[in-house]
Amino acid sequence: MGERDLYRGCLLGGAIGDALGYPVEFMSRDMILRKFGKDGINDLFISKGGKALISDDTQMTLFTAEGIVCSETLRRQGKMSEPSDEVFSAYGRWLFTQGEKRLEPDMKGWLIDHVDLHNRRAPGKTCLQSLLSGMKGTWQSPHNWSKGCGGVMRTAPAGLFYEKGEAFLKGVEFAAITHGHPSGYLPGGALAFMIASLISGSVIREAAEEAIEVLESWDGCQETASKLRLSINLAGSETDDVEAIARIGEGWVGDEALAISTYCAIRHGSDFRKALAASVNHNGDSDSTGSITGNLLGARYGVEAVPAGWIDPLEIKDVILRAADDLYDRYTGTPDWKIRYGMGKKSVNL
Ligand SMILES: [Mg+2]
Repeated sequence: MGERDLYRGCLLGGAIGDALGYPVEFMSRDMILRKFGKDGINDLFISKGGKALISDDTQMTLFTAEGIVCSETLRRQGKMSEPSDEVFSAYGRWLFTQGEKRLEPDMKGWLIDHVDLHNRRAPGKTCLQSLLSGMKGTWQSPHNWSKGCGGVMRTAPAGLFYEKGEAFLKGVEFAAITHGHPSGYLPGGALAFMIASLISGSVIREAAEEAIEVLESWDGCQETASKLRLSINLAGSETDDVEAIARIGEGWVGDEALAISTYCAIRHGSDFRKALAASVNHNGDSDSTGSITGNLLGARYGVEAVPAGWIDPLEIKDVILRAADDLYDRYTGTPDWKIRYGMGKKSVNL
């Protein structure tokens, strides 16, 4: 299995987890079981259009990837570029796709041209409000005190593009653009670090243990580090999924979302179906925990471990694959690349 397959697995896996959890995001576990039977939801829900719909988690993950590659493209062309500035610009384009058109986005990139991305799929309030301020938050000078999971659920591409040493800081910076509490941005760093570690060959438990060590050098790490440690311990115990996840939390906040996902990924290993089902059939933020679990599994086991029957009906799967391949290629400089990541002014009338 080549490394490209891990990139594809990471982004496709995340999108599938997101699509599995999206229909039950706001349902309690009891409500899910009443609607889908005693095992809960364990297959993709196909919408009237024949597709399994992705939500804001996948949308924002794709825009993170676009920002990273835009920054690298500038750098390769000899220009100065701070990756978090380009990711912030990319999030401005995501904001535009959500119908929030008061701020004129920086019209780079190619995602904004995709009509299927111009859909509101229960976007997080913190992400919207923070981006609507027009200000880029940083971990050094946060502009809110949010620890919602909207920061972590989009940082996997940082772990694909940057090596372990750099991935943590980049994940923190990208999450902190909108989330100012350490438990909002540190899980973003930890997820990016874990993805980078998995790409370089670690197993999921090792990646989580290493991430805790890095976390412990950051102020405000207690919640994130202790929840991650709890998830490792629970995954190695006899506790069943329902009880284990309930002990971690509901995943609306970053530290819990990362820990629930890590638990599911360690406990169920390469069994995508079991791991993703566990990650969405709970009281909390099912699409975000599904998405992060899918990112982790895909980065460890690659696209071959993703059930083919779950790839085919996935909305915008070609866009997701292209984003994964572009992260892997980093920069090609072909005319096509320059169009996708160049500075050309677009006329978006969507
Ligand atoms: Mg969502």
